[in-house]
Amino acid sequence: MKKQICIKTLSLVSLLSVAACVTNYVNPIREIADPNHEEIASIRKHTNDTYVVIYNPDTCKAIGDACMFFRSHAYAHYRLDHALMRPKYYPALSEKQADCYVAKYGNPNEVKAAVELLLDENRDTRLKIHGDPSIRAKNITECARQAGNWEGS
Ligand SMILES: [Zn+2]
Repeated sequence: MKKQICIKTLSLVSLLSVAACVTNYVNPIREIADPNHEEIASIRKHTNDTYVVIYNPDTCKAIGDACMFFRSHAYAHYRLDHALMRPKYYPALSEKQADCYVAKYGNPNEVKAAVELLLDENRDTRLKIHGDPSIRAKNITECARQAGNWEGS
């Protein structure tokens, strides 16, 4: 009965109510810190049913709160059932969906920090940002706003 109510809610109202029905984890459970990792973060299959998020701890120290956004983004590919691949190979739509997932369910500080980093024209050019940073920033902001998870201006 409880399940039926949940499904009914899903079909009648906006996506926001989905959050009430399912648990949307954003923080990766398995992570490896690798100072030689060229990406900010990426996800790799570990065994058949598991995955591991690899991130660069030095990069994370340099970019602060924004780092968890990118770690969560990598994890979001798994949460969204995307085929896991190297960051640059994801189709634009998958990238957009992963960003939107974290924008909705992530810590607002981390979401805001990621948007600021994407919009920062003076950021370290060695940072591997995939896709157009300003388009990503816009998408993230919109998703966070729609989900009531935006604390920026
Ligand atoms: Zn991605």
